[in-house]
Amino acid sequence: MQVDSPDKLRNVAVVGHNDTGKTTVVSSMLYTSGETTRLNKVEDGNTTTDYDHEEIERGISIGVSAAYAGWQRRKINLFDCPGYGIFQSEIQSGLRVADAALLCVDAASGVEVMTERVWKIAEELNLPVLIHLTKMDRERADLLEATQSLQKRFGRAAMPVQLAIGKEHGFEGVVDLIGEKAYRFKIDGDGKATEGSVPEDMTAEVEEWRIQLIEAVAESDDDLMEKFFEDGTLSNEDLHQGLKAAVAARKIFPITAGSALHGVGTSTLLDTLVDFAPSPLERGVYPAFNIAGEQVDIELGPGGPVSAILFKTLNEPSSGRVSMLRIVTGTLKADSSYWNPRLEEYERLGALSLLQGKTGPAIPEAVCGDIVGVAKLKISNTGDTLCTKESPIRLGWIEIPPPAMSFAVEPKSKGDDEKIGEAVHRLIDEDIALKAGRDEQTGEFLLSGSGQLHVEIAVAKLHSRYKVDVLLHPPKVPYREAIRRKAEGHGRHKKQSGGRGQFADCRITIEPLPRGEAFDFVDEIFGGSIPQNYRPAVSKGIQEVASAGYSANYPVVDFRVRLQDGQYHDVDSSELAFKIAGSLAFKDAMTRANPVLLEPMMQVAIQTSEDFMGEIMSDLSQRRGKPQGMDAMDDGTQSIKALVPMAEMLDYAPALRSMTQGRSSFTMSYSHYEELPKMVQDKLIAEYKRKKAEGS
Ligand code: GDP
Repeated sequence: MQVDSPDKLRNVAVVGHNDTGKTTVVSSMLYTSGETTRLNKVEDGNTTTDYDHEEIERGISIGVSAAYAGWQRRKINLFDCPGYGIFQSEIQSGLRVADAALLCVDAASGVEVMTERVWKIAEELNLPVLIHLTKMDRERADLLEATQSLQKRFGRAAMPVQLAIGKEHGFEGVVDLIGEKAYRFKIDGDGKATEGSVPEDMTAEVEEWRIQLIEAVAESDDDLMEKFFEDGTLSNEDLHQGLKAAVAARKIFPITAGSALHGVGTSTLLDTLVDFAPSPLERGVYPAFNIAGEQVDIELGPGGPVSAILFKTLNEPSSGRVSMLRIVTGTLKADSSYWNPRLEEYERLGALSLLQGKTGPAIPEAVCGDIVGVAKLKISNTGDTLCTKESPIRLGWIEIPPPAMSFAVEPKSKGDDEKIGEAVHRLIDEDIALKAGRDEQTGEFLLSGSGQLHVEIAVAKLHSRYKVDVLLHPPKVPYREAIRRKAEGHGRHKKQSGGRGQFADCRITIEPLPRGEAFDFVDEIFGGSIPQNYRPAVSKGIQEVASAGYSANYPVVDFRVRLQDGQYHDVDSSELAFKIAGSLAFKDAMTRANPVLLEPMMQVAIQTSEDFMGEIMSDLSQRRGKPQGMDAMDDGTQSIKALVPMAEMLDYAPALRSMTQGRSSFTMSYSHYEELPKMVQDKLIAEYKRKKAEGS
């Protein structure tokens, strides 16, 4: 279905902990609204929103996907988001382009790790949150207990707007607290309700919760408060309008319930989204920046210059490159060119399509707020804005968490190197949290992601889509070597072999430089003890030998060479001879320069609840970590900062997960190089010598 005005749209990101039934909820809304002819189930691998091969194989959502349900002449765009923390960037993308979050919470489990995490992301985006209790048919599923769990964590603004009729297997519908009506469903039916009056035995309970809701709505608005004081209650109209405004302002988070797998509570959920999720215009603002990077106000509406944000790219070989856009202002037209302000180039858009999963019917244009797919964009990537050249702006995007884990990738069959590079490039186009590149020092091709599973899924895609098979190893740590003391060195290369001989002689000093300054060469020769044209050869010879390492095959860095004196021979001297003499002088100087090994240090930030602090800190100290402070966050979690050697962080993701039952997360980024402790250093050098002796 296509809409002609943004007030008929609802953009809802379906988020929550893994396995809470998000994909099933979306699937049931598509069925009940008539978009699909039956309820497509995760187990059958045919849901509209989990279409990727890996998603079907594993039964989990990996990337954000879009679908829509037509309901009450409204188009509800649904973004089915993953539930695992390692796919956080996909959750962020879905929430970024939504005007409300539908937070799915398992009615038997209550608040879980990712419930809290997505709550926080929604809060940062100032996004309204509607809560849906799922799997109400299951044992121990209980609306009021789940409400308690939600209120304990998020406060009393999390408020039921429905009560359950029946319990567990007998769950058959809901009472709407606003309209005071009962909605009963046929179990395993089409998800549409029959309206009736509130069951006798529920009237007292309905009254009690309805009053709480009325009070909360009255408290959210001064005018309503006044009316409430005067009349002792609110009219249904005021309750409805007041609740809508309170949801948009994040003053109330309404709780609904359902059993999507059995079609119970689906039409009432659709009604709730139509009635209480804001339309794109009611959302108010979308962050935007002018070309100078200053924040600007933009008027949301179907008129005026077009702007759209590209929030997801799909890159499957079978369907080609598909880009998903949310139009933020104006009306986007098919077969037109739009300006990409990042690249300062035009991008040509061909046909536009609605997105029911990865494809949908073609449409000539789409209004502000709507979601469209465009095939085969040439230059634009995820996160880019498309707009007009006359009114260039950059729409706000998300901050992608840096990768937490890297693996070295090795092709199973030699000669696949190039193929891997190309395939990985396509994967990164689709998955913005994935990073790849060759480590200059170790030469390894590194694939980095938010966790082991993330990288493993990328590897599975390499196999299934591009037919390249790779092995993953922990990456080599790029240790380095340095010197601690100034030292002199002498190098003399002399060879007489038949005809023309080789001769060069040089005297140098080497001295330590501050970390990160790499290498410096100073020519201090007075007069002509070494002719000008041979002096760079000395430097070159030293750099070559230094890059191969002195103590343990790691490049020597952060030192200055002063070339001070030398000798040459008119006939026998050459560049090559001076390169060799330079390398000999360097090796000689190193024997007195007190060499050390350096290791890369990572800046690590760990987010955890207070309960695990002790264990995390003692584990960090075993990893030679240096604590740098702790911050208590507003939400009661703690943020621990520490510098930890990279060598000790290679297995941190699984270690942290098992230490904290998945209730923590961390990020890390390279910080600087530091000297290795003597013991670790000796071990590395001994290992190097052993390997060298073995000839490997
Ligand atoms: P997601 O990971 O949050 O997207 O959850 P899924 O939609 O993939 O569902 C996870 C599992 O819960 C699947 O095995 C579903 O069949 C099951 N499930 C989903 N909804 C319900 C429900 O309403 N009742 C019951 N009993 N199981 C459900």
